Amino acid sequence: MALTHYACEHCGGWILWFDTREPVACPNCTDVRNALPEEDFTYLRIQDAPARYSTQWREVLPGLWDFWTEPQLGLGSHGWLIQREKGNIAFEAAPFYSEDARKQLERLGGVKILGASHPHGYGALWQLQEFFDPELIIHREDLQHTKAFRVNHVIDDHYVIDGDYEMLRLGGHYEGQTALYAAKHRILFLGDALKIDFDGQGNTVALSCHKGYHYSIPLSRGELEHYREVFRRFDFQHVCTPFELGRGVDQQLALALVNYLMENGIHTRAVPMKELQAYV
Ligand SMILES: [Zn+2]
Ligand SMILES: [Zn+2]
Repeated sequence: MALTHYACEHCGGWILWFDTREPVACPNCTDVRNALPEEDFTYLRIQDAPARYSTQWREVLPGLWDFWTEPQLGLGSHGWLIQREKGNIAFEAAPFYSEDARKQLERLGGVKILGASHPHGYGALWQLQEFFDPELIIHREDLQHTKAFRVNHVIDDHYVIDGDYEMLRLGGHYEGQTALYAAKHRILFLGDALKIDFDGQGNTVALSCHKGYHYSIPLSRGELEHYREVFRRFDFQHVCTPFELGRGVDQQLALALVNYLMENGIHTRAVPMKELQAYV
């Protein structure tokens, strides 16, 4: 029986399933860290995606490209592409890559190494794998969520790509949540270890962190302590989540949130910048 790819229209996660019938349920949405759709599951077949979604891109910092879809599909993940002489690195993925986006990725040099922080960043990782057949890196604890693509490099808690790119497990939100540090850009790709709230001008106004966002499930103390160890290790100036670039969300601010929560009790509510400044 033939298989095809379906995207859950609620979260945007892709599911490899039988061509003749839709998936029973979306494994992302039935997980305790996510919300269920209000009515029922609805799915987008890959062959119907080009008519409904376009893929957009822009260079957000020199050599760092952002890919996303219009309109938003599911949670609206963003895929990052880092141009690199030894072969480009893609981290996280947009929910859908159009034919134009594939050509743009080719013009930028394709994808040699592909990874994601955790399932909310997987997007259409499987399409990037079909286009470029990259080394596809996932932490061993998150392998259970990767049915829509084929992982060919399973990593433990620490993996050095080269002197400029290093991966380190954060855990917490997802057991295998793993950060990528890009020393050249001084960016920490940290999954959903931080949630950033912006004002209308794109300025950061608050930070928070959670194990599960929709049900306001907080991290345990040990998980937050582990975030602190990872944040201390890298001298970052910006962060990238699977949803946005947090310009100026640096190591000091990230550590300030952890310290604030350690002292005031661990919760999932947004902590305004002016309160965080006292902990920098
Ligand atoms: Zn879903
Ligand atoms: Zn997440």
